[in-house]
Amino acid sequence: MSQPPYIGRFAPSPTGPLHAGSLVAALVSWLDARAHGGQWLVRIEDVDTPRCVPGAADTILQQLASCGLLPDAAPVYQSQRGALYKQALNQLTHAGLAYPCGCSRQDIATALAVSGHARERHGELIYPGTCRAGLSGKPARAWRFLTAEVGQRAEVTWTDRRLGPQTQNVSEQVGDFVLRRADGLWAYQLAVVVDDAAQGITDVVRGEDLADNTARQILLQRALGLPTPRYLHTPLVLDADGEKLSKQNGAQALLLSNSPAVLAALNAAAACLNLPSASGTLTEALAQWAQRWTAQWALKSSGERFHHSPA
Ligand code: GLU
Repeated sequence: MSQPPYIGRFAPSPTGPLHAGSLVAALVSWLDARAHGGQWLVRIEDVDTPRCVPGAADTILQQLASCGLLPDAAPVYQSQRGALYKQALNQLTHAGLAYPCGCSRQDIATALAVSGHARERHGELIYPGTCRAGLSGKPARAWRFLTAEVGQRAEVTWTDRRLGPQTQNVSEQVGDFVLRRADGLWAYQLAVVVDDAAQGITDVVRGEDLADNTARQILLQRALGLPTPRYLHTPLVLDADGEKLSKQNGAQALLLSNSPAVLAALNAAAACLNLPSASGTLTEALAQWAQRWTAQWALKSSGERFHHSPA
């Protein structure tokens, strides 16, 4: 049987221009697609509108173009895809896998305090499932995914191409997570799953800070009858204090005004991926790295490329 084609993506949130860390994410997803003879798509993840910076999406696309990282199709914008997310939420609701939640943060804290089971994860309280049984007269605020029926466990295992076998019990470790927020915005988890499937993504290559979302995304894929792509989570670029390089902690926007600056930025990104520095023109440098990337991953990438979840 022939393998499905490789389709990869880079999915930046337009919260600011590319910096050294996000360039690594862009480069590695591009290299992996090229190394597999595949397509590379760009998706602008602008669902969280309050965090988006006007003009940042255009700046990112220009920065990618300056680096020779050109998508194989026109970029898609999540802000224009609400109808697809709505359809997916309806499908989940009809299947009894999504429910409206009327709880405020305070309601959640109180319910957890009363039950004596307050559990936190990344500073967020794990939802105790109060509205699973109905809203009890409260108005609906958010929509949540039912991670498991009472007494069941939503344990997800998958194999990351770099991190190896991974397991997460979503119902215990994360809880019923939000699909549509109280402010009406679509949650990242739902949008990313719908879009990865709609764009035919076979391989998700992204930073390791996102690895923790994978189990939730696989659960959603299964609930929606969508295929599960392969995952490769790459090392993060850390600053001198060991923090992830991000706009929040002051990462500088990349200045790519001339060819030496572009090559210097790409060489720095390549070094983070254990690739040797490259010289020559931009096209030559990208070709050298793509070749090295192929060699580096030839063995690890030879396994099954694409898994379909049981329907
Ligand atoms: N938009 C996310 C970010 O910029 C990436 C999402 C993904 O690759 O799944 O962090």
